[in-house]
Amino acid sequence: MRFPSSIRFTLTLWYTLTLAVVMLLFSSFVYLTIRADIYKESDREIQSLAEALASPTMEPFRMAAPSVFDQVLEDFFGPKIDGKFVQLFDQHGTVTAASKNLNQMRLPLSLPTFQKVAHGKVIRETQTIDGLPPMRIVTMPVFADQKLVSIVQVGTSLNEKVETLHKLLIVFCISIPLGILFLCGGGWFLAGQALKPVDLITRSAQRITAENLSQRLVVLNPNDEIGRLAETFNSTLERLEASFNRTRRFFTDISHELRTPLTIIRGEAEVGLKWAKEPEEFREIIQSTLDEVKWMSGIVESLLELSRAEEGGLHLEMQELDLCEFLATLVHELNQQVQLHEQGKVVDFIPAGQAWVQGDQRRLRQIFMNLLDNALKFTPADTNVRVELTPKDGSVSVAVIDKGPGIPPDDLPHIFERFYRVDKARNRNDGGSGLGLSLVKTLTEAHSGWIEVSSTSATGRTFVVSLPTIPVPQPIHSKTS
Ligand code: ADP
Repeated sequence: MRFPSSIRFTLTLWYTLTLAVVMLLFSSFVYLTIRADIYKESDREIQSLAEALASPTMEPFRMAAPSVFDQVLEDFFGPKIDGKFVQLFDQHGTVTAASKNLNQMRLPLSLPTFQKVAHGKVIRETQTIDGLPPMRIVTMPVFADQKLVSIVQVGTSLNEKVETLHKLLIVFCISIPLGILFLCGGGWFLAGQALKPVDLITRSAQRITAENLSQRLVVLNPNDEIGRLAETFNSTLERLEASFNRTRRFFTDISHELRTPLTIIRGEAEVGLKWAKEPEEFREIIQSTLDEVKWMSGIVESLLELSRAEEGGLHLEMQELDLCEFLATLVHELNQQVQLHEQGKVVDFIPAGQAWVQGDQRRLRQIFMNLLDNALKFTPADTNVRVELTPKDGSVSVAVIDKGPGIPPDDLPHIFERFYRVDKARNRNDGGSGLGLSLVKTLTEAHSGWIEVSSTSATGRTFVVSLPTIPVPQPIHSKTS
């Protein structure tokens, strides 16, 4: 048989089973305690009679003729003997006297009981005789000079008491299954109530697809377990939506980015095929095609590097580097460019100390060249771009500061995204492909560093790259002879 595998069913089953076991244990405990009490009460009555009968002072009465036995019992015990059955045996277990109310019936004396009594034990037992209601019987030995001389048996009917027990049993037999049935219903209802929010979540989750990731789950109570689950799911949805949007934007951007050079190549090729005749014309077309191919290769190369770095597959040739010396050379190289001279732009390098880092020279060059390229592009003519190096505890920060227009606050959170450009209308002759800063960020992180941008600083627009430092290597001294 297969049970439905719903949490509601399982909860109800466990709830009902647990409470049914508790009910059964409790009823059994009540029943057994009452029964033990009844036996104890009956035993107390018949045992005191048996003890009285077995006492040495009662010896003459025990010897009385069977015909007067009842009279003797009545005289001696009065109303206490009412409803009690008395039987006497000799030392061999043969009945010598019995109360009249037994008629032809005899209280049983089994061999094991006889043997135990012969050894001095008092036996209390419940016996059923000839289909009559059960009887509680005490069997007690009588010794004289340490020899068994007689056995006294006193019994009492448990009729009324057993009836009470039976009634109790009937009450339990009816109330327990009814209780279990009620518990089943109650459990099913309670589990349903408790799981209602889950149903609600399931239904709203079913409505969410890749097309409407902006929908969120309904949170009834954010403080309970299910509310917390829904909130966690909602924040996962938020991240998923952002990632979906990024991917979508990425595909749009890359198609857009590659479409322009491809259209140019196609147009030029068509024009060349149709109209070009002179070698100079063909040379021009090939040159233009080469420029476009170079542009596309640049994009593809950057994308490849980005995805390699993100997957952790970027190969870095790490070496110990004097960052001051490295940046000074880079800045010097830039300052040699004729174009910058013409625009009156200069890069100033201001180191506030020494700093050694572990890094890949080619990648570090890429990082700082990209930042400086942007800074020089945006800083107005006849102004300086400053590169400030500040060693800190365990790290070094390099700030690239320009006096350009800066980045609007709304664009700041997206500045490191692929293909993100502040001025969307800017064509690729003025600006790059929008991959520069995302590459800078990824390469910096590959060096266990981090990058920050502040565009509101009074001193200018600032990009700060921080890298972990290594101890400054000590110069090796040659041995003095
Ligand atoms: P690109 O390769 O097109 O320059 P980047 O990823 O390097 O792309 O830069 C992304 C955008 O950030 C650019 O479109 C540019 O508008 C903006 N940006 C980068 N550096 C600066 C800067 N120093 N000042 C102002 N805007 C900047």
